[in-house]
Amino acid sequence: MSKTAHPGSDDARRRALWLRLWAELGAAPIVEAYLTAPGETVHGVCIDGDAVVINPVPATVDTILHELLHRVYPDRSERSIRRTTTQLRKFLTDDEVQLFYAEYCRRRKKGRSRRADV
Ligand SMILES: [Zn+2]
Repeated sequence: MSKTAHPGSDDARRRALWLRLWAELGAAPIVEAYLTAPGETVHGVCIDGDAVVINPVPATVDTILHELLHRVYPDRSERSIRRTTTQLRKFLTDDEVQLFYAEYCRRRKKGRSRRADV
């Protein structure tokens, strides 16, 4: 999908930045790794303005926990599921999160794109 924008507009600057990031995606050394920091969830880092390290684990595990909680508690509200997900994630250790992610990677199956009407 491509949108056109008036030169100099905010949309034009965003479009230019978006294209620049596509170029960076091709140029940057990118590594996927689990990242830890005391008391923090780290989704990624840029090392010395060059290499980028992406940690897919926190966002993926949050999503898995959230959706599994919908299975366990089908009558609970979205807000309640979100709250329980957040509380559970704070309770889990880095090792538990990594093990859960590894098990997810072992069990997952790739599916076709689909609409997710919620
Ligand atoms: Zn939900």
